Amino acid sequence: MEAKIKEVRALGLCSGGLDSMLSGLVLREQGIEIEWITFETPFFNAVKARKASKMTGVPLTVKPIFPVYLEMLKNPPAGYGKYMNPCMDCHTLMFKLAGDIMQERNFDFLFSGEVLGQRPMSQNKTSLRYVEKHSGFGGYILRPLSAKKLPETVPEKEGLVNRNLLMDIVGRSRKRQMELAEKFGIRDYPAPAGGCLLTDKNFSNRLKDLFEHQQTCTEAELHLLKHGRHFRLNRESKLIVGRTQKDNEKIIKYHNPQGDIVIDVKDYPSPIALIPNGGNKNLIFLAAAICIGYSKAPKLSPIDVQITSPSGKKVIKVIGIPPADVKKLMIK
Ligand code: SF4
Repeated sequence: MEAKIKEVRALGLCSGGLDSMLSGLVLREQGIEIEWITFETPFFNAVKARKASKMTGVPLTVKPIFPVYLEMLKNPPAGYGKYMNPCMDCHTLMFKLAGDIMQERNFDFLFSGEVLGQRPMSQNKTSLRYVEKHSGFGGYILRPLSAKKLPETVPEKEGLVNRNLLMDIVGRSRKRQMELAEKFGIRDYPAPAGGCLLTDKNFSNRLKDLFEHQQTCTEAELHLLKHGRHFRLNRESKLIVGRTQKDNEKIIKYHNPQGDIVIDVKDYPSPIALIPNGGNKNLIFLAAAICIGYSKAPKLSPIDVQITSPSGKKVIKVIGIPPADVKKLMIK
């Protein structure tokens, strides 16, 4: 009997937060062999999960999922949360992808650190059921922290997991989790929530603007949404103006030299500005004028601005526009 229990293998979703760590450790404590998987997109990364894996010694698979995630994000069947966060369909997709790996690599079941009632929208019984049903792995998703308050799963019924050793945590209090963390010797863990840009108001506004104006977008364009000030110039074109040195570096890093136009004020300290996918002459003059407005160049006199486009470099003379005059174009 002892030998059989040791062979049970479970694959957990790991965000790197305390609850996902504890859900794995509760299973490991009863002799189940656990591994974690985490997913990467431009909206969230694996930094916290890698840290959790290092801290606990639980093996971690990191899987980039941008194309399939984008497809879901553009039209999530269960809709968005407060901002552009499609939490129900995001969880569903993650469990679906994890389930495929479970089958490929012969894990016995999936698990995650969700706690019933902790987040009113995404962690109530209806949403947990939605995720199970639509992921295609209903019955095989165990939530060790709330298991005793949820219907028995297949691995519990089959005796692969001892239900008596699982938890019955519900609600928003973190007290029980703190006690468990103490028991497992976990002292350094990230604050709950945070880490997903789709729950950020400003980022969501920029993303919404992009979806409204473009049929498709690249991963780099989504990374660009994180940096600088963004302006909507017309239906087809937008402008990004760096705010800090780091913004300027990221704009250069993620721009597409085959299609974008880079604007830089000559002879004066200035931000880098970018017109993704280029634009016509009038648009370039407007963009250059906005860029000058945010630079240290003198106002009211023509300034040399370097324009780098896929067809080469040139210098144009432009008079700046003060930032206050283009505020209405800003995507906030
Ligand atoms: S907060 Fe972000 S990562 Fe988490 S479920 Fe919602 S959309 Fe997915």
